[in-house]
Amino acid sequence: MSVADKILKNVQLEKLIIKKDYSTSAEFLHNSQINSWELMKNNFEALKKIETKTFLFDGFKINVQFNPGRIKSTSAEVDENSISSRKCFLCIENLPDEQKGISLPSNFILLCNPYPIFKRHFTISSLTHQPQRIEESFKTFLELSKLFSNKCTLIYNGPECGASAPDHLHFQAGISKAMPVEDDILQIKNDYGKIVKEDDVSIVSLIDDGLRKIILIESTNDAELKLNFIKIINSYRELSSAISEPMINILCSHDEESGWNLIIFLRSRHRPKNYYKTGTDKIVVSPAAVDLGGLIITPREEDFNKLDKEIIKQIFSEISPSAQTFSAFTKKLIEDFN
Ligand SMILES: [Zn+2]
Repeated sequence: MSVADKILKNVQLEKLIIKKDYSTSAEFLHNSQINSWELMKNNFEALKKIETKTFLFDGFKINVQFNPGRIKSTSAEVDENSISSRKCFLCIENLPDEQKGISLPSNFILLCNPYPIFKRHFTISSLTHQPQRIEESFKTFLELSKLFSNKCTLIYNGPECGASAPDHLHFQAGISKAMPVEDDILQIKNDYGKIVKEDDVSIVSLIDDGLRKIILIESTNDAELKLNFIKIINSYRELSSAISEPMINILCSHDEESGWNLIIFLRSRHRPKNYYKTGTDKIVVSPAAVDLGGLIITPREEDFNKLDKEIIKQIFSEISPSAQTFSAFTKKLIEDFN
Protein backbone atom coordinates (compact mmCIF):
# COMPACT_ATOMS: atom_id res chain seq x y z
CA MET A 1 0.00 0.00 0.00
CA SER A 2 1.55 3.27 -1.09
CA VAL A 3 0.60 6.81 -0.12
CA ALA A 4 -0.68 7.46 -3.66
CA ASP A 5 -3.22 4.61 -3.23
CA LYS A 6 -4.72 6.38 -0.23
CA ILE A 7 -5.12 9.81 -1.84
CA LEU A 8 -8.66 10.57 -3.01
CA LYS A 9 -8.56 11.17 -6.75
CA ASN A 10 -11.06 13.62 -8.19
CA VAL A 11 -10.67 16.43 -10.75
CA GLN A 12 -12.82 18.89 -8.80
CA LEU A 13 -10.87 18.19 -5.62
CA GLU A 14 -7.55 18.64 -7.39
CA LYS A 15 -8.66 22.10 -8.56
CA LEU A 16 -9.52 23.08 -4.98
CA ILE A 17 -6.12 21.93 -3.76
CA ILE A 18 -4.32 23.89 -6.48
CA LYS A 19 -6.20 26.96 -5.20
CA LYS A 20 -5.07 25.98 -1.67
CA ASP A 21 -8.71 25.89 -0.61
CA TYR A 22 -8.21 23.22 2.02
CA SER A 23 -11.42 23.97 3.93
CA THR A 24 -13.60 23.19 0.91
CA SER A 25 -11.34 20.22 0.10
CA ALA A 26 -11.91 18.86 3.60
CA GLU A 27 -15.66 19.23 3.13
CA PHE A 28 -15.34 17.39 -0.18
CA LEU A 29 -13.41 14.57 1.47
CA HIS A 30 -15.98 14.31 4.26
CA ASN A 31 -18.88 14.02 1.80
CA SER A 32 -17.05 11.55 -0.39
CA GLN A 33 -16.16 9.32 2.57
CA ILE A 34 -19.73 9.49 3.97
CA ASN A 35 -20.95 8.12 0.63
CA SER A 36 -18.40 5.35 0.31
CA TRP A 37 -17.66 4.19 3.86
CA GLU A 38 -20.53 2.53 5.72
CA LEU A 39 -18.90 2.68 9.18
CA MET A 40 -18.21 6.39 8.91
CA LYS A 41 -21.69 7.12 7.56
CA ASN A 42 -23.33 5.23 10.44
CA ASN A 43 -21.16 6.91 13.07
CA PHE A 44 -21.87 10.42 11.75
CA GLU A 45 -25.59 9.57 11.63
CA ALA A 46 -25.36 8.41 15.26
CA LEU A 47 -23.60 11.64 16.23
CA LYS A 48 -26.67 13.65 15.15
CA LYS A 49 -28.77 11.91 17.81
CA ILE A 50 -26.21 12.09 20.56
CA GLU A 51 -27.17 13.41 24.02
CA THR A 52 -25.37 16.34 25.60
CA LYS A 53 -25.86 18.29 28.80
CA THR A 54 -24.49 21.68 29.82
CA PHE A 55 -23.13 23.04 33.10
CA LEU A 56 -22.75 26.77 33.62
CA PHE A 57 -19.73 27.88 35.60
CA ASP A 58 -18.86 31.48 36.44
CA GLY A 59 -18.07 33.01 33.04
CA PHE A 60 -17.87 29.82 30.97
CA LYS A 61 -19.68 26.59 30.22
CA ILE A 62 -18.85 22.91 30.07
CA ASN A 63 -20.76 20.47 27.87
CA VAL A 64 -20.85 16.73 28.45
CA GLN A 65 -21.37 14.45 25.44
CA PHE A 66 -22.56 10.83 25.72
CA ASN A 67 -20.65 9.22 22.86
CA PRO A 68 -20.46 5.39 22.95
CA GLY A 69 -18.39 5.33 19.74
CA ARG A 70 -15.44 6.82 21.63
CA ILE A 71 -14.91 3.93 24.05
CA LYS A 72 -11.87 2.58 22.19
CA SER A 73 -10.12 5.93 22.08
CA THR A 74 -11.02 6.92 25.66
CA SER A 75 -9.78 3.65 27.12
CA ALA A 76 -6.78 3.17 24.79
CA GLU A 77 -3.79 1.58 26.50
CA VAL A 78 -0.87 3.88 25.77
CA ASP A 79 1.92 2.32 27.84
CA GLU A 80 5.04 1.31 25.98
CA ASN A 81 4.25 -2.42 25.96
CA SER A 82 0.75 -1.98 24.59
CA ILE A 83 1.99 0.43 21.94
CA SER A 84 4.86 -1.76 20.78
CA SER A 85 2.67 -4.86 20.54
CA ARG A 86 -0.03 -3.35 18.33
CA LYS A 87 -0.02 -2.33 14.67
CA CYS A 88 0.09 1.46 14.37
CA PHE A 89 -3.38 2.50 13.23
CA LEU A 90 -2.10 5.77 11.70
CA CYS A 91 0.50 4.23 9.41
CA ILE A 92 -0.69 4.29 5.80
CA GLU A 93 -0.42 0.53 5.33
CA ASN A 94 -2.76 -0.10 8.28
CA LEU A 95 -5.57 2.30 7.38
CA PRO A 96 -8.95 0.70 6.57
CA ASP A 97 -9.46 -0.07 2.86
CA GLU A 98 -12.29 2.46 2.57
CA GLN A 99 -10.29 5.29 4.07
CA LYS A 100 -8.95 7.94 1.68
CA GLY A 101 -7.24 11.24 2.35
CA ILE A 102 -5.95 14.52 1.01
CA SER A 103 -2.30 15.30 0.77
CA LEU A 104 -1.27 18.27 2.94
CA PRO A 105 1.96 20.31 2.93
CA SER A 106 4.92 19.21 5.08
CA ASN A 107 4.34 15.49 4.57
CA PHE A 108 0.94 15.23 6.27
CA ILE A 109 -2.32 13.62 5.16
CA LEU A 110 -5.86 14.73 6.03
CA LEU A 111 -8.15 11.84 6.97
CA CYS A 112 -11.72 11.71 8.25
CA ASN A 113 -12.10 10.48 11.80
CA PRO A 114 -14.65 7.64 11.58
CA TYR A 115 -15.40 7.90 15.34
CA PRO A 116 -16.40 11.56 15.49
CA ILE A 117 -16.92 14.00 18.35
CA PHE A 118 -17.70 16.92 16.00
CA LYS A 119 -19.92 17.04 12.90
CA ARG A 120 -16.69 17.54 10.92
CA HIS A 121 -13.79 15.69 12.49
CA PHE A 122 -10.44 15.04 10.86
CA THR A 123 -7.13 13.44 11.70
CA ILE A 124 -4.03 15.16 10.33
CA SER A 125 -1.42 12.47 10.35
CA SER A 126 2.27 12.51 9.50
CA LEU A 127 3.18 10.27 6.57
CA THR A 128 6.19 9.16 8.59
CA HIS A 129 5.91 6.98 11.67
CA GLN A 130 7.60 9.23 14.25
CA PRO A 131 6.89 10.07 17.90
CA GLN A 132 4.21 12.55 18.91
CA ARG A 133 6.16 15.70 19.78
CA ILE A 134 5.14 19.30 19.35
CA GLU A 135 8.37 21.28 19.50
CA GLU A 136 9.78 20.09 16.18
CA SER A 137 6.38 20.14 14.49
CA PHE A 138 5.09 23.41 15.94
CA LYS A 139 5.80 25.51 12.83
CA THR A 140 3.88 23.01 10.70
CA PHE A 141 1.08 22.97 13.27
CA LEU A 142 0.68 26.75 12.82
CA GLU A 143 0.89 26.52 9.03
CA LEU A 144 -1.75 23.79 8.94
CA SER A 145 -4.07 25.78 11.21
CA LYS A 146 -3.75 28.69 8.77
CA LEU A 147 -4.82 26.44 5.89
CA PHE A 148 -8.14 25.93 7.70
CA SER A 149 -8.58 29.58 8.77
CA ASN A 150 -11.97 30.29 10.37
CA LYS A 151 -13.28 26.83 9.48
CA CYS A 152 -11.46 24.35 11.70
CA THR A 153 -9.64 24.35 15.01
CA LEU A 154 -6.50 22.26 15.26
CA ILE A 155 -5.94 20.02 18.24
CA TYR A 156 -2.76 18.57 19.71
CA ASN A 157 -2.61 16.04 22.53
CA GLY A 158 0.71 15.34 24.20
CA PRO A 159 2.06 11.76 24.11
CA GLU A 160 1.47 11.30 27.84
CA CYS A 161 -1.83 13.16 28.21
CA GLY A 162 -4.37 12.19 25.62
CA ALA A 163 -2.79 11.10 22.33
CA SER A 164 -4.07 7.60 21.54
CA ALA A 165 -1.09 7.07 19.18
CA PRO A 166 1.89 8.50 21.12
CA ASP A 167 4.23 6.80 18.64
CA HIS A 168 2.83 8.48 15.50
CA LEU A 169 2.82 12.26 15.07
CA HIS A 170 -0.70 13.51 14.45
CA PHE A 171 -3.12 16.38 15.07
CA GLN A 172 -6.87 16.56 14.87
CA ALA A 173 -9.09 19.18 13.30
CA GLY A 174 -12.65 19.89 14.35
CA ILE A 175 -15.19 22.29 12.95
CA SER A 176 -14.71 25.75 14.52
CA LYS A 177 -16.54 26.68 17.72
CA ALA A 178 -17.54 23.14 18.61
CA MET A 179 -15.77 23.44 21.96
CA PRO A 180 -17.22 26.00 24.42
CA VAL A 181 -13.80 27.45 25.32
CA GLU A 182 -13.50 28.84 21.78
CA ASP A 183 -16.38 31.21 22.50
CA ASP A 184 -15.56 31.68 26.18
CA ILE A 185 -11.80 32.30 26.05
CA LEU A 186 -11.78 36.11 25.94
CA GLN A 187 -14.31 36.30 28.77
CA ILE A 188 -12.23 33.80 30.79
CA LYS A 189 -9.12 35.85 30.05
CA ASN A 190 -10.85 39.05 31.29
CA ASP A 191 -12.26 37.38 34.40
CA TYR A 192 -9.36 35.17 35.47
CA GLY A 193 -6.33 36.05 33.35
CA LYS A 194 -3.05 37.79 33.93
CA ILE A 195 -1.12 39.22 30.96
CA VAL A 196 2.55 38.25 31.30
CA LYS A 197 3.77 39.60 27.97
CA GLU A 198 2.39 42.10 25.49
CA ASP A 199 3.91 43.72 22.41
CA ASP A 200 2.85 44.80 18.90
CA VAL A 201 2.26 41.29 17.63
CA SER A 202 1.55 39.08 20.68
CA ILE A 203 -0.28 38.89 23.99
CA VAL A 204 0.53 36.05 26.38
CA SER A 205 -1.98 35.51 29.21
CA LEU A 206 -2.02 33.00 32.06
CA ILE A 207 -5.44 31.94 33.24
CA ASP A 208 -6.69 29.91 36.21
CA ASP A 209 -10.47 29.73 35.81
CA GLY A 210 -10.94 27.45 38.81
CA LEU A 211 -11.09 24.36 36.62
CA ARG A 212 -8.18 24.65 34.20
CA LYS A 213 -4.69 26.14 34.04
CA ILE A 214 -4.51 27.84 30.65
CA ILE A 215 -1.97 29.81 28.66
CA LEU A 216 -3.42 31.89 25.85
CA ILE A 217 -1.17 33.28 23.13
CA GLU A 218 -2.79 35.70 20.70
CA SER A 219 -0.41 36.52 17.87
CA THR A 220 -0.23 37.77 14.31
CA ASN A 221 3.37 36.65 13.85
CA ASP A 222 4.23 32.95 13.54
CA ALA A 223 7.94 33.34 14.30
CA GLU A 224 7.30 35.21 17.52
CA LEU A 225 4.48 32.86 18.45
CA LYS A 226 6.93 29.99 18.14
CA LEU A 227 9.53 31.76 20.31
CA ASN A 228 6.95 32.39 23.02
CA PHE A 229 5.69 28.83 22.80
CA ILE A 230 9.17 27.30 23.14
CA LYS A 231 9.82 29.50 26.17
CA ILE A 232 6.61 28.29 27.78
CA ILE A 233 7.39 24.63 27.01
CA ASN A 234 10.89 24.97 28.45
CA SER A 235 9.63 26.68 31.60
CA TYR A 236 6.98 24.05 32.19
CA ARG A 237 9.42 21.23 31.45
CA GLU A 238 11.78 22.58 34.07
CA LEU A 239 9.05 23.19 36.63
CA SER A 240 7.38 19.80 36.19
CA SER A 241 10.71 17.93 35.94
CA ALA A 242 9.56 16.35 32.69
CA ILE A 243 12.24 14.39 30.86
CA SER A 244 10.94 14.93 27.34
CA GLU A 245 7.77 16.83 26.59
CA PRO A 246 5.90 18.35 29.54
CA MET A 247 2.22 17.40 29.68
CA ILE A 248 0.15 19.76 27.54
CA ASN A 249 -2.92 19.83 25.31
CA ILE A 250 -3.35 22.53 22.68
CA LEU A 251 -6.12 24.11 20.64
CA CYS A 252 -5.14 26.40 17.78
CA SER A 253 -7.32 28.53 15.55
CA HIS A 254 -6.42 31.11 12.94
CA ASP A 255 -8.25 34.10 11.58
CA GLU A 256 -7.01 36.26 8.67
CA GLU A 257 -7.55 39.48 10.62
CA SER A 258 -6.54 38.65 14.17
CA GLY A 259 -4.01 35.87 13.52
CA TRP A 260 -3.55 32.86 15.79
CA ASN A 261 -5.26 31.98 19.05
CA LEU A 262 -3.26 29.29 20.81
CA ILE A 263 -4.80 27.79 23.94
CA ILE A 264 -2.45 25.61 25.97
CA PHE A 265 -3.79 23.51 28.85
CA LEU A 266 -1.16 22.52 31.41
CA ARG A 267 -1.50 19.00 32.76
CA SER A 268 -0.15 17.15 35.76
CA ARG A 269 -1.46 13.66 35.07
CA HIS A 270 -3.00 11.59 32.28
CA ARG A 271 -6.18 10.24 33.85
CA PRO A 272 -8.15 11.02 37.03
CA LYS A 273 -8.22 8.52 39.92
CA ASN A 274 -11.82 7.46 39.27
CA TYR A 275 -10.79 6.13 35.89
CA TYR A 276 -8.82 3.34 37.59
CA LYS A 277 -11.50 2.38 40.14
CA THR A 278 -13.83 -0.58 39.79
CA GLY A 279 -17.59 -1.02 40.08
CA THR A 280 -19.81 2.00 40.67
CA ASP A 281 -16.87 4.24 41.64
CA LYS A 282 -15.37 3.96 38.16
CA ILE A 283 -15.81 6.90 35.79
CA VAL A 284 -14.55 6.45 32.25
CA VAL A 285 -13.43 9.99 31.40
CA SER A 286 -9.94 10.38 29.98
CA PRO A 287 -9.42 14.11 29.50
CA ALA A 288 -7.60 15.46 26.46
CA ALA A 289 -7.72 18.78 24.60
CA VAL A 290 -11.39 18.49 23.62
CA ASP A 291 -12.51 17.77 27.20
CA LEU A 292 -10.41 20.64 28.54
CA GLY A 293 -11.91 22.76 25.77
CA GLY A 294 -15.21 22.28 27.58
CA LEU A 295 -16.62 19.25 25.75
CA ILE A 296 -16.26 16.26 28.06
CA ILE A 297 -16.70 12.91 26.34
CA THR A 298 -18.34 10.06 28.25
CA PRO A 299 -18.53 6.82 26.26
CA ARG A 300 -20.65 5.09 28.98
CA GLU A 301 -24.20 6.17 29.81
CA GLU A 302 -23.75 5.66 33.56
CA ASP A 303 -20.88 8.17 33.57
CA PHE A 304 -22.87 10.62 31.46
CA ASN A 305 -25.71 10.46 34.00
CA LYS A 306 -23.36 10.66 36.98
CA LEU A 307 -21.30 13.68 35.91
CA ASP A 308 -22.15 16.90 37.74
CA LYS A 309 -20.29 20.13 38.54
CA GLU A 310 -18.59 18.64 41.58
CA ILE A 311 -17.29 15.59 39.70
CA ILE A 312 -16.13 17.81 36.82
CA LYS A 313 -14.22 20.02 39.28
CA GLN A 314 -12.71 16.94 40.91
CA ILE A 315 -11.58 15.45 37.57
CA PHE A 316 -10.05 18.71 36.33
CA SER A 317 -8.29 19.41 39.62
CA GLU A 318 -6.66 15.96 39.55
CA ILE A 319 -5.29 16.27 36.03
CA SER A 320 -4.18 19.92 36.20
CA PRO A 321 -1.29 21.43 38.17
CA SER A 322 -2.18 22.85 41.59
CA ALA A 323 -2.83 26.58 42.14
CA GLN A 324 0.58 26.77 43.91
CA THR A 325 2.41 25.16 40.99
CA PHE A 326 0.62 27.46 38.57
CA SER A 327 1.52 30.56 40.52
CA ALA A 328 5.17 29.41 40.68
CA PHE A 329 4.96 28.85 36.93
CA THR A 330 3.53 32.35 36.42
CA LYS A 331 6.36 33.88 38.44
CA LYS A 332 8.97 31.91 36.52
CA LEU A 333 7.49 32.80 33.16
CA ILE A 334 7.41 36.53 33.96
CA GLU A 335 11.14 36.26 34.78
CA ASP A 336 11.84 34.25 31.62
CA PHE A 337 10.03 36.80 29.47
CA ASN A 338 11.82 39.79 30.97
ZN1 LIG B 1 2.55 4.80 12.58
